[in-house]
Amino acid sequence: MMSCELCGSSENLTQYAIAPEGAKSITVCEKCCKQIEKKEELDANHWTCLKDSMWSENPNVQVVAWRMLNRLKNETWAADAIDMMYLDEDLLAWAQATNDHLESDGNDMHRDCNGAILLAGDSVTLIKSLDVKGSSVQAKIGTAVRNIKLVHDNTEQIEGKIDGQQIVILTKYVKKS
Ligand SMILES: [Zn+2]
Repeated sequence: MMSCELCGSSENLTQYAIAPEGAKSITVCEKCCKQIEKKEELDANHWTCLKDSMWSENPNVQVVAWRMLNRLKNETWAADAIDMMYLDEDLLAWAQATNDHLESDGNDMHRDCNGAILLAGDSVTLIKSLDVKGSSVQAKIGTAVRNIKLVHDNTEQIEGKIDGQQIVILTKYVKKS
């Protein structure tokens, strides 16, 4: 029987195409997949499953386990696990290719002024009138911004269209609608 290669669950299995190229994949459950793809907040208790799956002989599983452990490295057990893991040079380079290992513990999510998680495609409302430098864009408090984009390497910034212009907006000035 098929099961999640990370946590062993057999519910809602799907193929996760491993970022960044997506050429290789592993079988994961829905819960693991959402958290790997940062569509859901990290649940550290769930990921204690990595203490077993990190020993998988499948290099694809090793790479994903290594990335997830690094995102959880504020947890003592995860930091210990990383110390015990060995990836050869090529595998390590692949594991590091997404930079996921540089982020940790839910700090890698875009959040609005109330701490709610923001995802690409969400709609938000401005909670402050913004000065948009070098443009005539009127970004008044209460303005709705639909279909936002997340700024990939900065969790404090999103992009959205106001008055037909794509601008960068600080997440602390928006509320998810
Ligand atoms: Zn799973």
